Amino acid sequence: MIEKWAFALHFSSPVSIHSGLSAAGLVDRMVVRDHEGIAVIPGSSIKGRWRFVAERLLRSVDPGSMNGLWLHDEKMPDCKMSSPPCTLCKLFGNAAIQARLWIGAAELDETNKEYIRAIHQLRVNPVMHHDTEIRPGIALSRVRCTAMPDHLFFDETVPAMARFSGTIMVMGDISAAERNFLKLSARMVDKIGSRKAVGRGLLAKGIEIEMPGGEG
Ligand SMILES: [Zn+2]
Repeated sequence: MIEKWAFALHFSSPVSIHSGLSAAGLVDRMVVRDHEGIAVIPGSSIKGRWRFVAERLLRSVDPGSMNGLWLHDEKMPDCKMSSPPCTLCKLFGNAAIQARLWIGAAELDETNKEYIRAIHQLRVNPVMHHDTEIRPGIALSRVRCTAMPDHLFFDETVPAMARFSGTIMVMGDISAAERNFLKLSARMVDKIGSRKAVGRGLLAKGIEIEMPGGEG
């Protein structure tokens, strides 16, 4: 059985998921874009942060009150196929176990996309995109807490207005407790992307999940 949920992300600060690409001498880290050149948040980035929050939540809750939810011992390797996996490995997967959750890329709404397509057509520039901003940053020395020489960099970011949305698929059955745990942990995801320590990628209401039938 495959269940489909919709999700949305409202960013209250500029966000960037960097692609590993740079524009030599101009922009050090550029955002991930889709086939039309419009900024997207890859599902893997969303899932990675959600998994981190879910693990922290499972670790912090009293095991007696968890309704059958549990987490493998942090000193032991991840769960394997041979025995029932913990809640985290079952839902989010690991190297040996296929995840129950599949998270698609989060895209801008169609009205925003139309606007960006129009801007892109007006000015074709291979480096500067008119739907994003270039923000400077500096690398700090961890030892002295001062700026390191020659470590000024420029990041491409999506401005803070953005609402993105996408689809989550749940493969196979999950229990009511697991469903509630996913809703709760999704709401607790506070930020996504680069430069979180300086306040980038802040989410207004976490990963906002809408389950069919208005359960979300
Ligand atoms: Zn596990």
